[in-house]
Amino acid sequence: MLFDREKNLLIDLTLPIYPFHQDVVGFPKVCSWGHTAGARLNSVQAGIEPDDMPEGKSQAWEEATIATHLGTHLDAPWHFYPTTAGKPSKRIEDVPLEWCIGDGVILDLTHRGPGELITKEDIVRAAKDIDYKIKPYDIVLIRTDCDKMWGTNFDYFEKHPGMGRESTIYLLDQGVKTIGIDALGFDRPFKTMGADFRKTGNKDVLWPAHNVGKEREYCHLERLANLWKVPVPFGFTVMVAPVIVEGASAGWVRAFAIVDKDKIK
Ligand SMILES: [Zn+2]
Repeated sequence: MLFDREKNLLIDLTLPIYPFHQDVVGFPKVCSWGHTAGARLNSVQAGIEPDDMPEGKSQAWEEATIATHLGTHLDAPWHFYPTTAGKPSKRIEDVPLEWCIGDGVILDLTHRGPGELITKEDIVRAAKDIDYKIKPYDIVLIRTDCDKMWGTNFDYFEKHPGMGRESTIYLLDQGVKTIGIDALGFDRPFKTMGADFRKTGNKDVLWPAHNVGKEREYCHLERLANLWKVPVPFGFTVMVAPVIVEGASAGWVRAFAIVDKDKIK
């Protein structure tokens, strides 16, 4: 059994979406319709009067305008480029569910500071430190602890490290299809990459990790949370299935880890 109430611990790896909280990918607007409005809507649909319902109340609901890349989400290959190795890129509905459940492994990269690049050597060392050999279809989670800045100030948007081309390719070479990070983005911050480009004129410094997706098919999760709460670095299951907005480049996920209590020392 995948989940046993007695034997397993569930850890939520998801950030909440705060309505009306300014974000680099837009301003999430949420209109909350209360129970009185619910009675009005339901009465029209049912051909009755709002007062026909107890206390004139019925079900509440919300209407939301939120970027698909806000909140914890999975980037589909279509996000990276229209084609992957010359073939049409997968949109969110094309991402196999088999890529969304797997053995989780957390690589501790918390020593990497704001704007720093996570190198291939960092990844190799982090796996070695926990004595783990990455295998095909592992869901590799890059731990930076940047989720601790979420909701406080703009540091969350500007002060995270990011993956690079070589570190991403290294994981894909191990057969990994889904990589996650507990930071705003998979690459370094927008401003850091922009400053490096202005200094060097080198286009390779712009979204090098995302751009791997032009050649190699994979997905990544951004804005994960609570990797620091998972008591074991591997030996747990991760589930990260995305919501399907047809044709979209990403989907919100409720990501969580299923940990075997027996494996916690
Ligand atoms: Zn994204």
